Amino acid sequence: MSYVVTIDGPAGAGKSTVAKDVASTLGIKYLDTGAIYRAIALILFESEVKPVDDDIMRRALEKISIELRGKSVLVNGFDVSGEIRTPEVDELSSRYSAIPSVRQALLGLQKEQEKHGSIVAEGRDVGSVVFPDAKAKFFLTASPEARAQRRYRERITKGIPADYDEILQAIKERDINDSTRKTSPLTVPDGAIYLDTSDMTEEEAVKFITDKVKEVLSHETE
Ligand code: C5P
Repeated sequence: MSYVVTIDGPAGAGKSTVAKDVASTLGIKYLDTGAIYRAIALILFESEVKPVDDDIMRRALEKISIELRGKSVLVNGFDVSGEIRTPEVDELSSRYSAIPSVRQALLGLQKEQEKHGSIVAEGRDVGSVVFPDAKAKFFLTASPEARAQRRYRERITKGIPADYDEILQAIKERDINDSTRKTSPLTVPDGAIYLDTSDMTEEEAVKFITDKVKEVLSHETE
């Protein structure tokens, strides 16, 4: 029997690393919905389509095909997995993902992933909108300062120049964009377990989630 685990939460809460590790511990697939939003934002921006819900946007969306192939995201057949991981695309994806027709266009692609077996889906509305009937739902968060500190260390470790105050500011702005938009605002989904990881290691968060999922699954087989 296949099942879905959802992990929602704000930018920089450590969702990606945690979701990936939870998926590999459980031996199931990882679905990074942020990568899909990043890819569509990049192509729309490059095509000079403004982040406005109008006919131009709807026509542009009809012409875009997004495909997930293993760990890669393809837009109209081109692999954009590398290009979507920049601070510019952080900001673009936050703006374009607020547009209802963009969210609508990506809903089917996300839902479809469930057909290929069990998944850990990570995003902003996976527990509330995409997979409301998920087997286990989590909302992972941390204080803006803790999240900025993590992003800062991540960039420095990768040799990317970083400024803590700028990162903190960008995180706060993205939080406001993501939680105040009209369509699918970032909220704690019904039935989700709220986990503040400010004072937790990634390993502790992974263990907490996998233990809970195993507990839920074991109740089902009783
Ligand atoms: O998770 P990640 O930082 O890659 O997501 C990039 C942006 O895409 C987020 O800031 C958010 O605005 C948007 N997003 C979304 N819904 C999702 C996943 C991401 O709106 N399910």
